[in-house]
Amino acid sequence: MTAKYIFVTGGVTSSLGKGIISASLAKLLQARGFNVTIQKFDPYINIDPGTLNPYEHGECYVTDDGAETDLDLGHYERFLNKPTSQSNNITTGKIYQTVINKERQGDYLGKTVQVIPHITDEIKRRISLLGESGYQMVITELGGTVGDIESLPYLEALRQFRMDIGPENVVTIHLTLVPYLAAAKELKTKPSQHSVKELLEAGIQPDILVCRTERPLTDDIRAKLALFCNLKRENVIEAIDADTIYDVPLLMLKEKLDLRVLEKLNFPIKAEPDLKHWKKFLGQLKNPSASVTIGLIGKYNELPDAYKSIHEAFVHAGAYNECKVKVIPIHSEDLENETDVFKALKDLDGILVAPGFGERGIEGKIKAIHYARLHKVPFFGICLGMQCAVVEFFRNVVGVNEAASTEVNPKSPHPVIDMMENQKKIKNKGGTMRLGAYACKLMDKSLARKCYKSELIYERHRHRYEFNNHYLEQSQNAGLIATGINPDQNLVEIVELKDHPWFLGVQFHPELKSTVESPHPLFIGFIKACMTGKK
Ligand code: GLN
Repeated sequence: MTAKYIFVTGGVTSSLGKGIISASLAKLLQARGFNVTIQKFDPYINIDPGTLNPYEHGECYVTDDGAETDLDLGHYERFLNKPTSQSNNITTGKIYQTVINKERQGDYLGKTVQVIPHITDEIKRRISLLGESGYQMVITELGGTVGDIESLPYLEALRQFRMDIGPENVVTIHLTLVPYLAAAKELKTKPSQHSVKELLEAGIQPDILVCRTERPLTDDIRAKLALFCNLKRENVIEAIDADTIYDVPLLMLKEKLDLRVLEKLNFPIKAEPDLKHWKKFLGQLKNPSASVTIGLIGKYNELPDAYKSIHEAFVHAGAYNECKVKVIPIHSEDLENETDVFKALKDLDGILVAPGFGERGIEGKIKAIHYARLHKVPFFGICLGMQCAVVEFFRNVVGVNEAASTEVNPKSPHPVIDMMENQKKIKNKGGTMRLGAYACKLMDKSLARKCYKSELIYERHRHRYEFNNHYLEQSQNAGLIATGINPDQNLVEIVELKDHPWFLGVQFHPELKSTVESPHPLFIGFIKACMTGKK
């Protein structure tokens, strides 16, 4: 059976939530029994967002197969509970790289290589790749806004693709903004009309218009949008602002977005979607019987998107524990002295030290860990957070004052965190970290083992530095135990402190694998510990 394709474009402004709309539609289709996946095209020239500053682009999401991708893929996984891969995020950089490599190999010998057909062919190939791997439906989200210069080759490819496989196999959804003008006391349709015109200029007539709005769309507004945008009235869908992103699938169900898509694709409509689990999760999320306050110690706190998956993992594990998790972002650079640290951390039920890169803010993270260790506050260190916990322990418990990570002090006489030998030879920055899923064996009776309830786990990595095994014995003798080890390379993946209610550092990124359906066991355990120790 050939796959069906759903394209999602956006107009008027960026940040309208195309990723959430795409993930919500996918959720509804999945709940109706379809095997569906989502793919994101990013029209920038970077090969992937791995080299982008979190301030530019938010968190970099890592897949099992080691791709550094857009954070929308995180939403896809959290909603669908299915892993994504390299093929789910394509950038203009990747498209051009493939075409230019082919040109050098002589694949186009004798021909002038051009945007049309060579770049557009490559875009189309990347779309069908997922369709050929067994999915019934592929949702392709086009990043950016219609009208951007960078989007043009993609729109052209979408136009051609529709003709290539037949219009009956394709649905185009356009997401726009219907702003409310307070002075006129009116919702305005003109920006959406213009944005649909822009799509029409590229030869694409959208089948469905999804309208982001702060106020309900009246029948008049729906009729007007349908008339001017050349649509059936029922294909104008309201996407009103929601309390949480997890409400959006139900809002889309109410607006019948999934039905409109299935109608266009000539699928018979069977029973209602099975959203039992989703609704149970929402019920628990909205009716907590406890609450905890957790400090998120990081350095990109101005932009919550920089720690997107951590925030969402707290939402999932919080709902699981029927506990409201209030996350307070704390800038590690603000933790300069004891008074700052005490003031910022004294009321917290738990402390999470975030991942990160470079020297800035490191000392504040170490001070926060020192506080958590001494005051027996539940502590969770992720990647850089775990590395800082090791440094803190060596400095203040083992008594090695100059202990450091070589990322911060390359000349440290005690590099307790150091680069692996094979990393030292690497010159290129892009895609060269330890990336993707690796095995980790858990020690019997450890905190980690109790949380995971299994011996062998797989977690995703994104880092260059590691626990230096030269210091392992000293660490264990003094009470910081390696409870998770990578069996293939003998690398320390988890450290735990003896004599502490909950103190755990992980070299990997557990937050990337937390989903609505499978909240992450370590986040569940951490929140439980915070609830138990609550002041
Ligand atoms: N900067 C550290 C490393 O590369 C930690 C990375 C991270 O927190 N993801 O090892």
